[in-house]
Amino acid sequence: MKVPYVDIAEQFFEIEDQVMLAIQKVLSSGKYILSEQVSLFEKNFREFCQCKYSFGVANGTDALIIAMKALGIQEGDEVITPANSWVSSTSSIAICGATPVFADIGSDLQISVQDIEKKITSKTKAIMPVHLAGKMANMKAIMALAAKHHLFVIEDAAQAVGASYEGQAAGTIGDIGCFSLHPLKNLNAAGDAGVITTNNKALAQKIALLRQHGLASRNDIQQWGYNSRLDEIQAAILNCKFVGLPAVLEKRHANAELYRSLLCSEVVLPDKSIVGHDANHLFVIQCKYRDELKEYLKTYDISSAIHYEVPIHLQPAAHYLGYKSGDLPETELSALRILSLPIHQHLTKAQILFVAEKVNEFFKMKGL
Ligand SMILES: *Cc1c(COP(=O)(O)O)cnc(C)c1O
Repeated sequence: MKVPYVDIAEQFFEIEDQVMLAIQKVLSSGKYILSEQVSLFEKNFREFCQCKYSFGVANGTDALIIAMKALGIQEGDEVITPANSWVSSTSSIAICGATPVFADIGSDLQISVQDIEKKITSKTKAIMPVHLAGKMANMKAIMALAAKHHLFVIEDAAQAVGASYEGQAAGTIGDIGCFSLHPLKNLNAAGDAGVITTNNKALAQKIALLRQHGLASRNDIQQWGYNSRLDEIQAAILNCKFVGLPAVLEKRHANAELYRSLLCSEVVLPDKSIVGHDANHLFVIQCKYRDELKEYLKTYDISSAIHYEVPIHLQPAAHYLGYKSGDLPETELSALRILSLPIHQHLTKAQILFVAEKVNEFFKMKGL
């Protein structure tokens, strides 16, 4: 039995008729940039997140860059973020000219609020928590810390469409939320796409300018801006996919619960003490002999992944920041122990039973 890590084409086949019709409609309308479909998508997203403003942009990385530019983050500023993330949370800080400062993580694999506090200096301008794996960072404590030190909070909610914290959607608690709609994410386009959320009117105005050449109107350029727009065809596809999003989240949740009930005690399960609703973007277990387990699963055609093998502070690109091995002990230790099992919505119960059986078999074989 083959168990693929993801099955993106299958997502398309499910709604092929609607998607083809929607694309055809956009093509024949002749309106390809910031038109009805993007507006509809932004409205759908606002309603889903219960926030005031939303802007479709070209991708999740641009969302982060534009968010920081809107907050005026620049050279000389420091932004605190975790090192166990996709590169964009850090690179976006550096690309704005600011200095990424890494905080370590807790046993829940989320950014440690205690370590954030230790890393605050007179130069700190913002905290960028990452809701890794679709789980919420400790937003209550982060918001309290930010208020105490007058810092902005930018939520990297790229993996967290559908996650919430005390009833508030990921991306709507801090000053700005940034989402990716990349094909691998919970809600996804057929290519690159992203969205920015905020409840702050002044920030919304800045974001609107930044995403489109600084244009207030055709002949009124208020500032230099980017060209980072969600395009109409992607928005039309996203609008088709929106309908199925609750079912996708439900299925991912059911898959996670099934794994939890099956996996043996040698496996450390994803933390459940985290407050809020989990979007189950990834199902990250921790264990000894991770690499061997991954190989063992592969011999049975079970795909798994590691998010992420090399923490960002140890990447060549981060060398100039001066971090060395041992600086973020929890992050570094977790990188050797984490393994993401397939959790996507098209898995059958039999496939999950098979994965769990093989994981358990591996540890039995190891004599554990
Ligand atoms: C995917 C991802 C991004 C970047 O999104 P893109 O749309 O690929 O640019 C940023 N942060 C995290 C945590 C991600 O997982």
